[in-house]
Amino acid sequence: MYSPRYSRQRIYVLRIGHRPERDKRITTHVALVARAFGAHGFILADIVDDKVMDSIRKVLYNWGGSLFIAQGIDSFKYVKIWKNFKGLVVHLTMYGINIDDVINEIRNSGKDVLVVVGAEKVSRYFYEEADYNIAIGNQPHSEVAALAIFLDRYYMGKELYFTYEGARIVIEPSPKGKKVKIFGKR
Ligand code: SAM
Repeated sequence: MYSPRYSRQRIYVLRIGHRPERDKRITTHVALVARAFGAHGFILADIVDDKVMDSIRKVLYNWGGSLFIAQGIDSFKYVKIWKNFKGLVVHLTMYGINIDDVINEIRNSGKDVLVVVGAEKVSRYFYEEADYNIAIGNQPHSEVAALAIFLDRYYMGKELYFTYEGARIVIEPSPKGKKVKIFGKR
C-alpha cells in the first residue's frame, strides 16, 4: 500500500491570494487535491477562513490522512523561511518553465518542496523568490488543475493508489454502483 507518509520528501502547498467572498470553493478544492494527491501540508496564507479549514477538517476526519493544515501565516515570511531553512520553493504559474524540464531534478534533489499557488494577481515577490517558476502548460487555467498535475508528475502516477490512515470511509472500487466501507462512528 502506498501512502505519502512513506515519501522521503515532504510537500507543502501554500495557497496565496484567497478571497473569502469568492474563493471558498476553489481554495477548499486546492486543499482536497493537496490531501488526495499526496501533499503533507496545506497552508492558507495571509488570511483566516474557518469555513475552508472546517471543510478540510471534516474531510480528514472521514477520509483519513495526516495533512498538516494552518492558516493566517504571512506568505512572504513563510516563503523566505522555507527557502533558507527547509527546502525548495516551487511557484506554479503559466509564465514559468515546462514542468517536464525540471520535475526529475526536483524529485531527485531529496529536498522538501513548498508549492505556491495563486488566485488572481500574484506578487512579483513569488516569481523572484521561487527556486522554480513552473508552468503546467503555458495556457491560463486553474490552481486546482495545476496542483493536481504537479503532484501527479511528482509522484509519477502513484498518488492514485495512496491510502490514508485513520479513514472512516473507504471506497472499494467497483465497475458499477457504489461500494463503501464505513469504520467507526461518523
Ligand atoms: N494571471 C494569474 C497569474 O499571475 O498567474 C493567473 C491566475 S490563475 C486563475 C490562479 C493560479 O492558477 C495561478 O496563480 C497559478 O498558481 C495557477 N495556474 C493557472 N494556470 C497555470 C498554468 N498554466 N501553469 C501553472 N499554474 C497555473
